[in-house]
Amino acid sequence: MVETAAPGTERRRLRVRGTVQGVGFRPFVYRHAVALSLTGFVCNDAEGVLIEAQGPEPAVAELCRMVLECPPPLARVDEVRTTTVAPGRGDDGFRIVESTGHGAASVPVSVDVATCAACLAEVDDPTDRRHGYPFANCTDCGPRYTIVRSVPYDRPGTTMAGFAMCGPCRAEYDDPADRRFHAQPNACPVCGPRLRLADAAGAVVAEGDAALDRAVQVLVSGGTVAVKGVGGYHLAADGTDAGAVAGLRRRKGRDDKPFALMVADVAQARRLCHLDAAALEALTSPRRPVVVAPRRPGAPVADGVAPGLPELGLMLPYSPLHHLLATRCGRPLVMTSGNLTDDPIAHLDEDAAARLGPLVDGVLQHDRPIHIRCDDSVLRSAGGRLQMLRRSRGYAPEPMRLPVAARRPLLAVGAELKNTVTVAKGPTMVPSHHIGDLGHLAAYTSFLQAAAHLCRLCGVEPEVVVHDLHPEYLSTKFALDLGIETLAVQHHHAHVASCLAEHGRTGPVLGIAFDGHGMGTDGTLWGGEFLLADLRGFERVGHLAPVALPGGAAAVREPWRMAVTWARAAAGPDAAAALGRRLDPRAPQVLALAERHDVLRTTSAGRLFDAVAAIVGIRGRVSYEGQAAVELEALAATVPPGDAVPYRADVDMTDGMLVLDPAPMIGAVLDDVARGRPPAAVAAGFHLGLAAAVASAATDLAGRHGVGTVALSGGVFQNVVLSRAVEVALAGAGLEVLVHRHVPPNDGGISVGQAAVAAAASRR
Ligand code: ZN
Ligand code: ZN
Ligand code: FE
Repeated sequence: MVETAAPGTERRRLRVRGTVQGVGFRPFVYRHAVALSLTGFVCNDAEGVLIEAQGPEPAVAELCRMVLECPPPLARVDEVRTTTVAPGRGDDGFRIVESTGHGAASVPVSVDVATCAACLAEVDDPTDRRHGYPFANCTDCGPRYTIVRSVPYDRPGTTMAGFAMCGPCRAEYDDPADRRFHAQPNACPVCGPRLRLADAAGAVVAEGDAALDRAVQVLVSGGTVAVKGVGGYHLAADGTDAGAVAGLRRRKGRDDKPFALMVADVAQARRLCHLDAAALEALTSPRRPVVVAPRRPGAPVADGVAPGLPELGLMLPYSPLHHLLATRCGRPLVMTSGNLTDDPIAHLDEDAAARLGPLVDGVLQHDRPIHIRCDDSVLRSAGGRLQMLRRSRGYAPEPMRLPVAARRPLLAVGAELKNTVTVAKGPTMVPSHHIGDLGHLAAYTSFLQAAAHLCRLCGVEPEVVVHDLHPEYLSTKFALDLGIETLAVQHHHAHVASCLAEHGRTGPVLGIAFDGHGMGTDGTLWGGEFLLADLRGFERVGHLAPVALPGGAAAVREPWRMAVTWARAAAGPDAAAALGRRLDPRAPQVLALAERHDVLRTTSAGRLFDAVAAIVGIRGRVSYEGQAAVELEALAATVPPGDAVPYRADVDMTDGMLVLDPAPMIGAVLDDVARGRPPAAVAAGFHLGLAAAVASAATDLAGRHGVGTVALSGGVFQNVVLSRAVEVALAGAGLEVLVHRHVPPNDGGISVGQAAVAAAASRR
């Protein structure tokens, strides 16, 4: 039967590509289509979102315009292809059609979204029924990933299930023209979650607005408050109060690791840090990450917030509760993960009361449960661009495209530190939130929950589990115990693959993977690698010269150990002994250990930075991994590039294997330090010298193997001074350079690389 439509009626099919799933795209289209009295449908499919809209031509055109020009806050529309199709009369209004999955991993829930301007205006409006309400949200904003327990994503499947909507909320929820149409966490002061303040013993001392006021009083008078946020608890304190910050540091058991600050608005942020356009955009985006940026001289912040660092991590409020708290306190607040040292962030009320209660002067909490803990994401703004350091709240569980589709559904379990997991099915992969360092039992438990939850959420039943080569990683052990097909991916291959994957590339490239360490195929610890790689495999074509790693994990905590080891390799036992006398009384034992043939050896670039930092006198021991290297970079960054004199390293080629030997640089560093050359000049000379050697090695290898592209990955490339110098030199040699933007270069990106490698392997 052929149906005819009214004259002047048009029907258009819109094929929308980009980040358009799990970001509220379908309700957005639905709302506007209904408001424009159009008929048709919208659905998700393997390629993105498909829309068919029918009605008067101007109305159809208006919908097209809105899709292109004002999509939902988290959507990124890359392409809209429009075709006119024959109108029909079969449509009964406009409908959201069930997803036609076609075998792709689809995530039916979006990331958590910061409070939108409309909701914020209501919270600030004394005449609004949500005035001062800490849990206001709508279709464009509010918690999502952190509150979803099961799919499909509707209210009974979230932690809002226990809150029955009142009449006015229900009316908003049911009205297609309302901003809160189908907003699952919709709530108001009458029917929604409520705030309360508990004392250290767990007794509730205030509720509602009074709880907020009391918490503000505690904070501005130098106290510490545990605050239940979106993805977990923060520990909050006045960031301008040296005593409060020192107290928090002491109670949390955190020596030097920088604390993030929450500021009320952009004006306050600008008073603390230099923010370029990209940094401002990230800071104010609905994802609301922590943005680490150069601090202004004299920024009004206690020294203890980020000891010894030229940068501060800032974020803006992302829930109405944060907004009220930051505005009423009127000063930067330390907002650090609510945990002890490296435990996972507390997200359950009982756990928070037990673990955090004794550390604080009050616990500001509410009765909306957090289902999945999700730490703040962290981006670094340096040298005019942004770098993802931790991809978590506001980014997970946003899907990414695989360069090569997976033939079978898979789960990649990541590394040991900064763990994430990634599930993949068809052309799509979904990296998890930041899980943490699996060595801690609590983090391992969290890992198990996250992996299971992500699989359920994405409708993926893995047939293959992908893991690191390191047999002692808990993620590896988990994978091997799962009883399904396994695939091991070498750590640095995964780093390079993660960089390829985020650029949608398959290789081949020359991958430079510089990091702390990862297990090599030869059983030694690699960490300064040149790999000729594509997604399917790699060949190790170069590396840093190996040295002893005396004391294993102790060498990571105590950079002086690497300093004496490198000094011995570069300048001999006497010079090493002399340095040892200056650095640590245990140096003779460490040097004896380094001489033994059975001691573990490493090509780690991270440990090389540690060694130089210790020789220069920055520090002999660290309180968090990479601290010495971060401080060395900060020192180097104070020297204008033109003023630095690069040290020279040796680059040798033997039997087709390139070895970059930093020994001559270490020798020169030792001499210059002895001569009293300023540490900053030495740090800058080391950075530039290493960058020059790396770039010349890479140029040589790329030419030899006929590749025109170099990919930089591994945690060491978070170092912008190094990365920039390498990039400039490689570009000058006519090579294309791929660097990380959306996936962390550190081990947080390993599961992404593992998934990309496994997907490509499944196509063999
Ligand atoms: Zn909103
Ligand atoms: Zn209500
Ligand atoms: Fe690594």
